[in-house]
Amino acid sequence: MPIQLEVDYLIIGAGAMGMAFADTLITETNASVLIVDRHHRPGGHWNNAYPFVRLHAPSSYYGVNSRLLGTDTVDCIGWNKGLRELASDSEICAYYEQVMQQQFLPSGRVSWFPMCEYQGASRFKDYVGREYCVDVRCRIVDATYMHVSVPSMRPPPYEVAAKATSAPPNDLPKIKRQHGHYTIVGVGKTGMDACLWLLRHNVDPADLTWIMPRDSWMMDRANIQTGAAFAQSVLTGFLAQSKAIGEATSLDDLFNRLSAAGRLLRLDEEMRPTMYHCAIVSRAELDQLRRIKDIVRLGRVQRIESHDIFLDCGKISTSPDTLHVDCSADGLAQRRVTPVFNGQTITLQSVRTCQQVFSAAFIAHVEASYQDDDTKNSICTPIPHPGTDLDWLRTTIANNRNQLRWTQDEGLLAWLDEARLNGFRARFAPLPTETAARARAKDAMRKNIEDMNEKLNSLLREATE
Ligand SMILES: Cc1cc2nc3c(=O)[nH]c(=O)nc-3n(C[C@H](O)[C@H](O)[C@H](O)COP(=O)(O)OP(=O)(O)OC[C@H]3O[C@@H](n4cnc5c(N)ncnc54)[C@H](O)[C@@H]3O)c2cc1C
Repeated sequence: MPIQLEVDYLIIGAGAMGMAFADTLITETNASVLIVDRHHRPGGHWNNAYPFVRLHAPSSYYGVNSRLLGTDTVDCIGWNKGLRELASDSEICAYYEQVMQQQFLPSGRVSWFPMCEYQGASRFKDYVGREYCVDVRCRIVDATYMHVSVPSMRPPPYEVAAKATSAPPNDLPKIKRQHGHYTIVGVGKTGMDACLWLLRHNVDPADLTWIMPRDSWMMDRANIQTGAAFAQSVLTGFLAQSKAIGEATSLDDLFNRLSAAGRLLRLDEEMRPTMYHCAIVSRAELDQLRRIKDIVRLGRVQRIESHDIFLDCGKISTSPDTLHVDCSADGLAQRRVTPVFNGQTITLQSVRTCQQVFSAAFIAHVEASYQDDDTKNSICTPIPHPGTDLDWLRTTIANNRNQLRWTQDEGLLAWLDEARLNGFRARFAPLPTETAARARAKDAMRKNIEDMNEKLNSLLREATE
């Protein structure tokens, strides 16, 4: 017989989103929460991450709303110099342990079931095979929907011959000897991190080959800083983006303008990237990546043999002494959107592009503060994770639409002003409090957003027709 449990909210997944949701829910309601995860501790994919991974956006707006991650320091050394600190995977995992052990469990309202496999229909099984059945009074919260995949979680998606050497980035720090050459497969955040790690450890850029199926647009980390010290430069950048959109005459012209304004970065100024995954770099990191000259643009790897690599559009030489580093995992999957609030289920998704933890906390606040699912869904329109250059336009339009909806609701604006996870919070001057001035500022904001969306929609139509 399964062990019977009873709770208000059953959360599947103690990753960044499940933890952010639980934190805001228990802060803003009296609900009880049961969290189940197959990992032995909270933190989700950070438990499987390569040991040199760091956040790519500032720690100051990552984690759960109620607790600062890190010390909000501006780095004064390294390739992130002058920008807010980026937590490492071990800091992130320790942080989530503290949130669980020092906040959630002592609250008396959270039950935690690690090393358990959720099996659907409110049932799960623990490590030793005991079965549990949960009577859920309010909702089941699916915090697994982003389907994060990191290289150590699966074998390379291409064939590797026995005499070729391939490793996930997790193994780089364990390598005992210098290899004759290093070939990095994949251009996402993981590929960039692997290249930067090798360069930081004095590997000659001439000994690196980077297999890049598609070039990617990247964001400049300087543009996503928070706090008064960065407010002016971030505002200037944001206005430059509005101007670029307003003046663009075609899709190519838009990307050239965004690139010239420093809103989007690319590895090679001669290439027109077709990929956009919200990758973030500092200018110093980009300078380092540009030291790698052997970039292979022949599509995806199909097979690695001892002396050849076969790709979609050709073949290159390799050697048995080359270490092939598999960085080809997707990270966050592009999933079909589904309503966030649907009967007994809440499916956590981004409601601000590439801001998953903010989104999870925001959804919890909406769950706690509004009555019916139609209203809740009208506030929480999901924004799928981007993949292509056109998705930059789509996600900007969707972000703008959500922002417009939120601006109509003074209660939401008050929450957004206070929320630590709202990375936009302290970026710009707050709206004026005096009624008439506030209405004028909101009108101006609405007009600006509507103009931007009209232009982006027309560029998108032209590009897709
Ligand atoms: C390398 C990398 C760097 C990133 N950096 C940043 C950053 O700087 N800033 C930022 O805002 N975002 C960043 N992100 C994205 C974001 O932080 C979150 O990491 C993302 O949303 C993933 O968290 P999650 O909770 O959705 O998923 P996961 O971390 O995958 O958590 C889901 C959890 O569900 C559990 N689970 C799944 N199925 C079951 C089941 N059947 N039974 C039991 N448990 C189950 C899994 O074990 C897992 O622990 C980054 C992502 C990656 C991959």
